[in-house]
Amino acid sequence: MKARTMARLQRTETPHTDWCARDHRCGLDAHRSPEIIADALGGRAVTTRVRAGDRDYAEITIRVRLDHRDPIAARQVGLTLHLINRLIRAVNAVRPEALAGRIRPALDRRSAA
Ligand SMILES: [Zn+2]
Repeated sequence: MKARTMARLQRTETPHTDWCARDHRCGLDAHRSPEIIADALGGRAVTTRVRAGDRDYAEITIRVRLDHRDPIAARQVGLTLHLINRLIRAVNAVRPEALAGRIRPALDRRSAA
């Protein structure tokens, strides 16, 4: 009996979106926007819109400046996680209809990559 060690992956190619980067950042079945960067007080958030399958997501990488004292830094990490949890809950609590009248083209524009 022959054992198969590799699963065969089959992906269906999906078309680019109006907002995706249309370059190496896109894959066969996932599309990614150019990064949107927000700098504030020594920290940084990099947000990327992603379409994977039939769902869109915001992927966010956040850099938060921490205190040099470890116990305080550990509490700051905990506070960061707590606030990220609240952010996710707050965004998901907003009904899409509440945002329909507030289309802001600047939020969907392409950034220089
Ligand atoms: Zn794409």
